[in-house]
Amino acid sequence: MKNILVTGGAGFLGSNLCRKLLAQGHTVTAVDNLYTGRKDNIKELLDHPRFAFFEHDISEPFFVKADEIYHAACPASPPHYQKSPVSTLRTCVIGMMNLLELADKNHARILQFSTSEVYGEPLVHPQTELYRGNVNPIGIRACYDEGKRCAETLCFDYYREYGTKIKVIRIFNTYGPYMHAQDGRVVSNFIIQALQNKDITVYGDGGQTRSFCYVDDLIDGIIRMMESGEDFTGPVNLGNPSEFTVMQLAQKVIALTDSKSNIIHLPLPSDDPTQRKPDIALAVKELGWEPKIDLETGLLATIRYFSKELSHGGI
Ligand code: UDP
Repeated sequence: MKNILVTGGAGFLGSNLCRKLLAQGHTVTAVDNLYTGRKDNIKELLDHPRFAFFEHDISEPFFVKADEIYHAACPASPPHYQKSPVSTLRTCVIGMMNLLELADKNHARILQFSTSEVYGEPLVHPQTELYRGNVNPIGIRACYDEGKRCAETLCFDYYREYGTKIKVIRIFNTYGPYMHAQDGRVVSNFIIQALQNKDITVYGDGGQTRSFCYVDDLIDGIIRMMESGEDFTGPVNLGNPSEFTVMQLAQKVIALTDSKSNIIHLPLPSDDPTQRKPDIALAVKELGWEPKIDLETGLLATIRYFSKELSHGGI
C-alpha cells in the first residue's frame, strides 16, 4: 500500500479520488486551500486513520512524504478561475513547479490533472492528443487555458531535464456527486435550477456541444494512468466521447427531474468553445479504459446527490 498525496483533495475530483484510494487501502494526504474545495466534501474522511488533511495553498512550497502525487489543485470552473486570474496563473505555474520539486525530492510519480481547455476553441473534431489547440492567449479563459498549457510544458521539461516521473491527463467535462453547487458549471446549474423549478439558463442558442463523463468513470481512468508503465507519460485524453448540445442537456435534465422549469437564453460568454469531444483511442489502447456510465444513469445519480444537498440546506 502506498503513501499518496492528493492536491485539491477537498475539491470535486480530489475528494472522489481520496475516497477511492482509501477504499483501495492506501494512506492518503489531501492538501487544499479551500478556495473552491470544501471541507464538507471530505467530512466523513477526517476521522479515517489513513487520511490526513492540510489546508495549504500549493503556490507556497511545502513538504509531504509521498510515493505518488495526484496534482488536482486548481479552480476549474470559468466563474471561479476568472474571479482572480492572476492567482489562477500562480496556482497553475508556481504550484506546478512546487509539486514537481516535491515529486523529485520524494522520487515519486506525479500525475498532472490537465484539461481539454488546452485545445481552446478546437479546429479539429474530435480532439486527439496530437492536436495543438487554438487558444486565445489574451482572452478571459487564458489564465486557465494558458496556465494549464504552461503546467504541461513544465512537466515535460522536468521529465527531460531531471527525469521526473510525470504523467499528464487531459480531462474533459466531468460531472457527478460533490460538484460545487455554486460552481456555475452547466450540469450543476441545470440540475439545481430544475430541482427548484427555476429557469434553466442556456447560454447562447444552446447549440454548443460538450461530452460529459461521470466522475466514477474518470477516477477509474485516472488511477489506471497512475499505474501505467513508467514510459507512458501521456498526455492522454480522459472523457466520455458521447457528445450532446447544451440544449439537449437542458431537456434531459428537465425530463429526468420532472421539472416545471422553463428554458431561457442568456448571452454566450466570450471564448466559449463551440464544440468539444475527446478522441479516446489512446486511453483505450494504453490504459484499457473507456467510460461505462451513460449520461442518463450519471445524471440520475447526480440529481439524487443535489436533491439530498438541497433538502439538508447544503445549497
Ligand atoms: N452553460 C450554459 N448555462 C449554464 C452554464 C454553462 O449554457 O448555466 C454552457 C457554457 O456556456 C458552455 C457549456 O455550458 O458552453 C459548458 O459550460 P461549463 O462551464 O460547464 O464547462 P466548460 O465551458 O468549461 O466546458
